[in-house]
Amino acid sequence: MDNLCKGARVLKNSQRPVKERTLRSVENEINLLMQALQARTPGLRFSPRIEQDYLQHRDQHFLDVDRKIIIGGLIVYLLFSWSDFYLGGDNTLTIVAWRLVIAGLLFVITQALSRTRYTYLVVPVTAIGISLIGASVVYFISLLDGIDRYAYHLGMIPIQVFAIVSMRLSYRAFLFTSVVMLFTYIIGGHWLDLTDRSEVGEIILALQPYFIAFWTVLILLGGYLAYVMESGFRSETIKNRLLALEAERLSFLTQQLRQLSTTDGLTQIANRRYFEQLIQTEWSRCQRHQQVLSLVMIDIDAFKEFNDTYGHQSGDDCLRRVASTIDGLCRRSADVCARYGGEEFVMLLPAMTHDEARALAQQACQQVAELKIVHRGSHAGVVTISAGVASCIPQQGQHSDALLKQADELLYRAKAAGRNRVEA
Ligand code: GH3
Ligand code: MG
Ligand code: MG
Repeated sequence: MDNLCKGARVLKNSQRPVKERTLRSVENEINLLMQALQARTPGLRFSPRIEQDYLQHRDQHFLDVDRKIIIGGLIVYLLFSWSDFYLGGDNTLTIVAWRLVIAGLLFVITQALSRTRYTYLVVPVTAIGISLIGASVVYFISLLDGIDRYAYHLGMIPIQVFAIVSMRLSYRAFLFTSVVMLFTYIIGGHWLDLTDRSEVGEIILALQPYFIAFWTVLILLGGYLAYVMESGFRSETIKNRLLALEAERLSFLTQQLRQLSTTDGLTQIANRRYFEQLIQTEWSRCQRHQQVLSLVMIDIDAFKEFNDTYGHQSGDDCLRRVASTIDGLCRRSADVCARYGGEEFVMLLPAMTHDEARALAQQACQQVAELKIVHRGSHAGVVTISAGVASCIPQQGQHSDALLKQADELLYRAKAAGRNRVEA
């Protein structure tokens, strides 16, 4: 389809209010997001609707990026089976089996969640999963004897660091995981007796408060890091969305501007400017394909008198109704009706024969008369139009002005012959 025809269709569609409403909704969303950026609370949460959209985006980001980190973490957790074979003693198989069950379960759940509509569970599930891994190590400590078990005490630290890395975009999830792990360790130590009465055990027991204190400091630092990271990620998400919306808004405004520059303000049909661009292109196209280009020049009869009798306001209403009637007759996508001047209109009809164009002009005369807009000063008693129809197959060296001139002369002839008629 020629660009031109598309242009004409865009113009015809321009009267629909749908686009304006969409522009308004884009602007409303921009305002909401700007407010959300300015009204940041210490808890970092946005208003419910924006929060919901943000969480969806974050969970998707989590699935795209952090799932790989989690899989890496699970592999490291499994690789520690190697130390179980050296340090696990009689419990080696039990410990390795637990590692396989927990890692396998978390892997399957996170993979499965990414394929369902429950993606919003992925962060809570990961937080619970890391807590579970922490709890498993506390349990492994309780299974072991002698000095080897103290290696597993230190094993809590990489898990805590892993929580910082993987939960960095949700400080709440991070704090939940970390506090649960710390308390599991403290309460587990109390119930499961994680130290023995050996000399080394006594030293470890004496050092345990320091170990817990350092761990707490690590959680506070990690919490601060997660808070700053989440805050930044939230701002960045909103700013990116704003950029996309601004681009959308700009495209709407450009479209609106194009419509304004090609539409007649009073009648909302194409304006002369648009017609003059269009006739050049249609002229060349018909010349290329050696097709007939028809042109109908239309003028409302005794319109000055109509204005003088009924006032300018009624004159404008009349212009609108006549324009809409003529425009309605341009049914093919390439046909265009434009307001040429005050009460003058043109119909540009590419690839339409002279006879068809004359028939269309006669239909226009008839339909305008059938509007029955009372006009005492006209012969028919109602508003009528006169039309001149010219057609040609454009040839090299000719200019479209010749066709316009011919249609104008024929219109003049129709006026001279008594008006309310077509000359072709
Ligand atoms: P004829 O039958 O020979 O065409 O006579 P006419 O009175 O229609 O022609 P004339 O050129 O003398 O007058 C055209 C009138 O159209 C004059 C002007 O007041 C009116 N007109 C032009 N543009 C507008 C407009 O935008 N709104 C209104 N209400 N009237 C307009
Ligand atoms: Mg006129
Ligand atoms: Mg007139």
